[in-house]
Amino acid sequence: MRKILFILLTVFQFAACNQTSRSTKVEQKNVNVPNFSSDSAYQFVQQQVAFGPRIPNTSAQIACANYLSATLKRFGAEVIEQKTEVKAFDGTLLRCINIIGSYNPKAETRILLFSHWDSRPWADNDPKPSNHNKPVIGANDGASGVGVLLEMARQFGLQQPAVGVDIIFFDAEDYGASGNGGGEAAENSWCLGTQYWANHPHVAGYSAKYGILLDMVGAPLATFPREQISEYYAANIVEKVWSQAKSLGFSQYFVDQKGGAITDDHLYVNKIAGIPSIDIIQYDTNSNTGFASYWHTVDDTMENIDKNTLQAVGITLMHVVYNEKTN
Ligand SMILES: [Zn+2]
Repeated sequence: MRKILFILLTVFQFAACNQTSRSTKVEQKNVNVPNFSSDSAYQFVQQQVAFGPRIPNTSAQIACANYLSATLKRFGAEVIEQKTEVKAFDGTLLRCINIIGSYNPKAETRILLFSHWDSRPWADNDPKPSNHNKPVIGANDGASGVGVLLEMARQFGLQQPAVGVDIIFFDAEDYGASGNGGGEAAENSWCLGTQYWANHPHVAGYSAKYGILLDMVGAPLATFPREQISEYYAANIVEKVWSQAKSLGFSQYFVDQKGGAITDDHLYVNKIAGIPSIDIIQYDTNSNTGFASYWHTVDDTMENIDKNTLQAVGITLMHVVYNEKTN
């Protein structure tokens, strides 16, 4: 993912101003929301990292894809592996494996939860140029979101929510062109797995009430300001999630601030698939890149994963999913 160009950002800001005021109500029903184990989510992050960098066309990619599919199946999901080939910005053909795990597949009201599972082949934001061609291990950038979703899958397997849920692990998100120039082509060199899926959904005519993307959701004291593309396409879903987090006491993570506009998987789910979708993404308004200092460096390791953050994100989303109405 990367920060979107400033000109687009101002368009989004302008559009966001025209939106009507938000509702701040949180559902107060007697729904039994299962717990979320951050110990287990942490383990799921660790297990992915143990495969090494999950880069398209490597054997670690195959091994981790098999692990993700098998784990979703073990937790009772109906699993589809969508395998294809996508073309990277440099012309490389990438084996791309999107992994879809569905719960209650016949239910009409569906929620889509997604994360990318690949890690970046180049640590091109590393302070040491000698590291720029080394791969990113992606504990936070990749594995953290998937780890939270695998723990949610485990809970869905134990007690199904009323609505249908599709969990998608998208491949080839982080193979994009370096730097911030390059216009639309460079912009669209990211999120290749999602772009493919949005044009070729796993079920013909697939739709969902809304989508939630998790990206870099494991760092200690992470802050998730309201991402602007999310605000533009799905302000009511941002509000639903942020107010749920607030009512659970997690406002220090889900801060009530405006974040950046990020080219990330949710952009294509909004733009191509037409499913209103938000991005829960760590963002730091004081950093040059908008992201943490170890983003796209060789230091994106397990040391930067904190169970408290995984818990805040996981339990918030559990409440959102289990309180969702079936109409
Ligand atoms: Zn990344």
